[in-house]
Amino acid sequence: MSTITALAYRTKHRIDNRWWDFLAVLNGYCNDRPVKTGVPGQGGGYSHTRCALPRGHDSVHRSRNYVWGENGKTMYLPVEDFPSQPWGRHPTSTLRQARNARRWHAEQSARRKFVRLDRGEPY
Ligand SMILES: [Zn+2]
Repeated sequence: MSTITALAYRTKHRIDNRWWDFLAVLNGYCNDRPVKTGVPGQGGGYSHTRCALPRGHDSVHRSRNYVWGENGKTMYLPVEDFPSQPWGRHPTSTLRQARNARRWHAEQSARRKFVRLDRGEPY
């Protein structure tokens, strides 16, 4: 797959996800997601997961058999009649999530470089 084709697919997937998120909110779903910032180690679950409970629900967020709280850490908690949304999302990060992840990786790289320089190692 060429780079242009990959970029086109990523853009299409982001537009699809935005549209389905819009429809979900319009149809009264909570639509919270466990992956919020895109920074590795924060949140949990899959990037395409969205809460399928009605907006304003009192319990933890749920999609199918997984639940999560405000920190996004997911837990498997099966129920017989699990809720799900009619729109499946693409596992594509949002622009903000991608930007946060890039920034996080750059910070980690800078830290590793600093440690190597501090030890007198070549970088
Ligand atoms: Zn929810």
